[in-house]
Amino acid sequence: MPSVPSTTSQRPLLLLLLVLLGCGFLATSLASYYAALDSVRDNIVNTELPLTSDNVYSEIQKDLITPVLISSMMARDTFVRDWVMSGEQDVAQMTRYLREVQEHYGAVTSFFVSDQTLTYYQAKGVLKHVAAQEPRDSWYFRVRDLLQAPYEINVDVDMANEDRLTVFINYKVFDYDKRFIGATGVGLNVDAVVQLIDDYQARYDRSVYFVDTDGRIVLTGATGGPLGAKVGQALSEVPGLEELQAKLPQPQTGDFEYQEQGRAHFLNVRFIPELDWYLFVDKHETGALAGIRQSLYLNLLICLVVTVIVLTLVSLAMRRYQKRIAALATTDQLTELLNRRGFDLLANQAIQEARRNPSPLCALLLDLDNFKSLNDSHGHLAGDQVLRGFANNLRDNLRQSDIIGRWGGEEFILLLKDTSLEQARLLAEKVRRQTEQSGFDYQGASLQITTSIGLAELHADDSLNELLARADRALYRAKQAGRNRTCEAST
Ligand code: GH3
Ligand code: MG
Ligand code: MG
Repeated sequence: MPSVPSTTSQRPLLLLLLVLLGCGFLATSLASYYAALDSVRDNIVNTELPLTSDNVYSEIQKDLITPVLISSMMARDTFVRDWVMSGEQDVAQMTRYLREVQEHYGAVTSFFVSDQTLTYYQAKGVLKHVAAQEPRDSWYFRVRDLLQAPYEINVDVDMANEDRLTVFINYKVFDYDKRFIGATGVGLNVDAVVQLIDDYQARYDRSVYFVDTDGRIVLTGATGGPLGAKVGQALSEVPGLEELQAKLPQPQTGDFEYQEQGRAHFLNVRFIPELDWYLFVDKHETGALAGIRQSLYLNLLICLVVTVIVLTLVSLAMRRYQKRIAALATTDQLTELLNRRGFDLLANQAIQEARRNPSPLCALLLDLDNFKSLNDSHGHLAGDQVLRGFANNLRDNLRQSDIIGRWGGEEFILLLKDTSLEQARLLAEKVRRQTEQSGFDYQGASLQITTSIGLAELHADDSLNELLARADRALYRAKQAGRNRTCEAST
């Protein structure tokens, strides 16, 4: 017998479930992603960058600020001033003095340039005479003529030291009447600082560099500053930092964020008054946040897989329950045949099909004879047993394509597809005779029953109701004619 199609669609429920699960998973994934993002950002801005800045600053203090103090002491040394004012007589005295300073403090060079003779003295003797037109000597004339402060720090190559990158402290020297008489100081190489900067850049993927108050990069690691910016470059030439340069003239310390080619950068800026430089520690978030982003993608993937599994399981379970509910709603519990509702559904389909591809179709209405008296004499349970046995016999006589239902009480109905009146008549007789000859067992007794049958063939314009009404009239006639017989609808 064909099965009854399920009529309810599960799509809206699955869609709702998908939206709920999707939104829930997305919301929790994004919430934890942004929480992690915030904590990483917070850590970068409030801990990582300031710590790097502190470390570099203390190293710089060791490397640069001590030499400033030494140079300051040299500029105020009475020997230096007396020696100049007495006419720079004994070069060896000055040379010995400079050598003492250099060796004692571990500087790479120490020097004095006299304004009177423009002689450049250093630990090994007279190096040269400075000249205003010589670019390498321009620092001296700048210190003498333009520098307001008592000293400057200048990163330059050291001629006396194989042109190595050196930080010079150029301190002005005045006589006792405050007249400018020359410049003195020490030079030190910045290997230690550069090494430290390189370490930070390589290990923690961050840029460390120094910027002067004009916004020029004055010192950075071997690999350069942000985006490989070199010493001497202005901040305005570094993408993303142009705006920052405008804020720099007023010494200020703080945290900044800027964008460069869509990448967010965090920047810790610290003003170092002793050097008149800014220390910049810069980190872009791409590297720092890559791990978090990866775990977001993994989270979303897991959520997707879980959603798909849940939806598949729910869909399978629903389909199974729908089938069971549909079966319950369309099956008669006692005989397990179709009930009236189930029969109607399939019978209407069968009639439509028979109309579409014209083919004969017959209906049989069966009513057990004197069933009431069987109930009365043997009990209701015996009646049930007979109904079950009769239904089983009916089922055994039918083809897979035939539709068979319990019409109500002790009435049954058959719809025979592709069956002519003649074939239907033979089947009805077969069923009638078999019923008559069958004994239905109940508590050791064999109960007998007969059935009357009304037979009708589908006419071209018949509805299901019209067909059944004609079968019912035929059945009535069979009852009238004495029961246990088959009658055919007249037309
Ligand atoms: P007729 O030959 O004219 O059909 O006589 P009948 O006694 O079969 O007809 P009637 O319609 O008067 O009685 C039908 C009886 O079938 C009455 C009812 O109690 C019984 N019946 C209906 N449904 C069930 C059922 O599910 N189980 C049992 N045991 N009896 C049922
Ligand atoms: Mg009846
Ligand atoms: Mg009856």
